[in-house]
Amino acid sequence: METKTKQATFKTNWLRKTEVPVVIAGPCSAESEEQVFETCRKIAATGKVDILRAGIWKPRTRPGTFEGIGIKGLPWMRQMKIETGLPVTVEVAKAGHVEAALEFDIDILWVGARTTVNPFAVQEIAEAVRGVNVPILVKNPINPDLALWLGAIERFERVGIEKIGAIHRGFSNSTEKIYRNRPQWQMAIDFMAKRPELPMICDPSHICGNRHMLKAVAQKGVDLNYDGLMIESHRDPDNAWSDAKQQITPQVLGEMITSMKLRYGLEDDPTVQQSLNFMRQEINQIDEDLINLLGERMAIARQIGEYKKQNNMTILQPKRWKEILDKAQIKGEANRLSEDFMSKLLRAIHDESIDQQENIMEG
Ligand code: PEP
Ligand code: MN
Repeated sequence: METKTKQATFKTNWLRKTEVPVVIAGPCSAESEEQVFETCRKIAATGKVDILRAGIWKPRTRPGTFEGIGIKGLPWMRQMKIETGLPVTVEVAKAGHVEAALEFDIDILWVGARTTVNPFAVQEIAEAVRGVNVPILVKNPINPDLALWLGAIERFERVGIEKIGAIHRGFSNSTEKIYRNRPQWQMAIDFMAKRPELPMICDPSHICGNRHMLKAVAQKGVDLNYDGLMIESHRDPDNAWSDAKQQITPQVLGEMITSMKLRYGLEDDPTVQQSLNFMRQEINQIDEDLINLLGERMAIARQIGEYKKQNNMTILQPKRWKEILDKAQIKGEANRLSEDFMSKLLRAIHDESIDQQENIMEG
């Protein structure tokens, strides 16, 4: 990755991806002056990072853990900004944090997932930045609620903030086993569809919660056309005071970014566009056929509904439902469709059938 291009990207387009994603990196938490200095110096030396991050105040899920070094850490970040020439960002969760961060020339403020969920807290931060045109990044709320995420962004727009971006860090779920925070990519994609002009950053560190999946998730963000990545990096990850399992050394970070497959902006190339359009037309046709077929399927479901009504039968026939699911799984496997997808698809179709039959029963 070319450092020069990336620097220009950041300056001319507020966090917009042109050729290479913007990279924000730094420790989960600022712990000591030496830790911040050594980590940030090493990160800057990779030449792969555009913005330095560190948590100064840490909203922790449970009490009794490290809650951040506080104001004391701000001069360390300012020093790293001066020394490396890179902009710096910290998390703010209340008005006092904003005032302190601005006093120490922090360039960008970010709102954490545990704050985005609370409209009062977001509004308090918004009031604190009213009239100060500081760039703001808003992480998704911990629960998968698109309106809450968009609403937080709107609160900053209403106080006149012009440079706003979103960070996708995944959604917590007590049954989740693979990720620390399930990505639910579709929610970020829906966000991008609603607000295409806003930059979207992927935070693989908090999505994964571990190191081994980090690169794959970062790559997925790049493949989905995210504008940038926020990745936690620490001089000594195993001994980090917070999020030790997911942090990587600056060296590993540099190697990871270098080895990522970048998707250059070939979208504007006419030949590429033509082939893509051709394939998309096929997709459009198939989608149309699928919808027509679903319509036919529902028409038959309604007929069955009438029949069940006449014969006083219940809508749900569990044996029949199991038979449909089992058959679909076998067919799905033969067509390279995952078990999870087949089950979601069939459930959605079945739900619609039940609704339609219910209308018949009631009508
Ligand atoms: C962080 O970035 O260190 C952090 C606390 O993240 P999140 O708000 O996504 O949990
Ligand atoms: Mn963290």
